[in-house]
Amino acid sequence: MAEERTYIMVKPDGVERGLVGEIIKRFESKGYKLVALQLLPTSRELLNEHYCDLKDKPFFPKLINYMLSGPVVGMVWEGKDIVKTGRRLLGETDPLKSAPGTIRGDYCIDVGKNLCHGSDSVESAQREISLWFPNGVLSWERHNVHKLI
Ligand code: ADP
Ligand code: MG
Repeated sequence: MAEERTYIMVKPDGVERGLVGEIIKRFESKGYKLVALQLLPTSRELLNEHYCDLKDKPFFPKLINYMLSGPVVGMVWEGKDIVKTGRRLLGETDPLKSAPGTIRGDYCIDVGKNLCHGSDSVESAQREISLWFPNGVLSWERHNVHKLI
């Protein structure tokens, strides 16, 4: 069976605060494998699709404005149980409920500026990876790089 993958995104506040390296480090140190990485400005179209499940929430317009406030760093990470474990590395949606030792628990206090995104299920991960990386991600191992998959 193919390795599990997830979409992790450093949101504009994380990029602006210089926390990209720290967030990458936590996934690398844990033992996960980076298979795609990009810095890009988001667009309303991409965000409406990415957050389609939340469009009726009262905080939706604020969320979109926050996500449009600067570039994001999108990544795809691969490895055992990465979707669930990735969310545990990030912490709870509300940083004040996030345990110390998690990214949100260590670096933020506002739910509206919670630094990072992680897919919430294997199905969402597949949808988000195809949305943000329409050309595919890299399949690689030492001494061997495969084409985009
Ligand atoms: P998560 O990012 O942990 O999966 P959700 O998918 O529920 O959380 O929400 C998406 C994003 O919307 C959150 O990460 C956060 O940036 C924002 N958000 C969620 N709830 C609120 C809220 N009550 N007020 C403001 N922003 C919120
Ligand atoms: Mg979510």
